Amino acid sequence: GQPTPVNTRAGFVAIVGKPNVGKSTLLNSLLGVKIAPTSPRPQTTRKGVRGISNQGDTQLIFVDTPGLHRPKDALGKYMNGEVQNALADVDAVVWVVDLRHPPTDEDSMVARSIRDLPRPLTVVGNKLDVSKYPEEALRLYTALLEGRTHETQSVMLSAQNDVNKVAQLRTALAANLPENPFFFPVGAASDQSREQWAAEILREEAMKKLRDELPYAVATRVTSWTERQDGLQRIEAEIVVDRAGHKGMVIGAGGKQLGAIGAATRKQLEVFLNTKVFLGVQVIVIPGWREDQEALRELGYE
Ligand code: GDP
Ligand code: MG
Repeated sequence: GQPTPVNTRAGFVAIVGKPNVGKSTLLNSLLGVKIAPTSPRPQTTRKGVRGISNQGDTQLIFVDTPGLHRPKDALGKYMNGEVQNALADVDAVVWVVDLRHPPTDEDSMVARSIRDLPRPLTVVGNKLDVSKYPEEALRLYTALLEGRTHETQSVMLSAQNDVNKVAQLRTALAANLPENPFFFPVGAASDQSREQWAAEILREEAMKKLRDELPYAVATRVTSWTERQDGLQRIEAEIVVDRAGHKGMVIGAGGKQLGAIGAATRKQLEVFLNTKVFLGVQVIVIPGWREDQEALRELGYE
């Protein structure tokens, strides 16, 4: 990948809000292009990372706060320490609300859980495109934060349509982040496909496991990617070695090595895709692929 820039800002941002207000839509707009994560710094592994946005010398890492997705019967426990801890652990909070409607009890709950948090908070009034009284609605939402003494901003936008406003929001969030080295290395080119991205993660995992044996002799590619009705991602991939003798080394005794590579890759993919993944990995031999123009092109090395 590219070298990591110096003098960077990086941090964790939680996107909270009741269901259906547009959190996922906003996250996707903020992310734009998914960038390949490779080896996160240790602190990141315990958080539910939903996506990473690198831009210049800033890295925004969007995380899930599990406590905020509890079903209604857990309302009484809503304010418990778990949620507070999860939120205290992030550098900024984005609260998404639906400007089409006034706040409900669920919004009040979310507001209570974030009101006293000593972190910059941005209220995003979403669905501006279909709201009749956006200013009035936003005022009702921000009123739920009454008594809050920490930094609070608000914006109104359409997560679905307002590319520019979403970009401005991203810039504002990044400006608020602490100075930190990047938690994730900057991945490959930002125009890579999800297939290239997944293949790159597989290659990283293979390299990690095969370190001493055949460092530069493997390439990887994703040969098929389908989504099942229930959301499971079915991915078929290949590890390409350049001589027959290397195949067994990648597979390992009893298939153990390949199994470990596949399992580690699948785990990473599941975290970043936030869904179940079925990953099938085969090892194939393309003799001398490193000297073969056509094979190189096929493997994504232009
Ligand atoms: P989440 O449950 O908070 O993650 O909400 P989603 O992102 O899944 O969005 C819920 C619904 O609202 C989806 O049908 C979206 O298409 C829709 N939605 C999200 N943002 C906007 C918006 O800016 N304008 C409009 N009109 N619809 C939106
Ligand atoms: Mg969602």
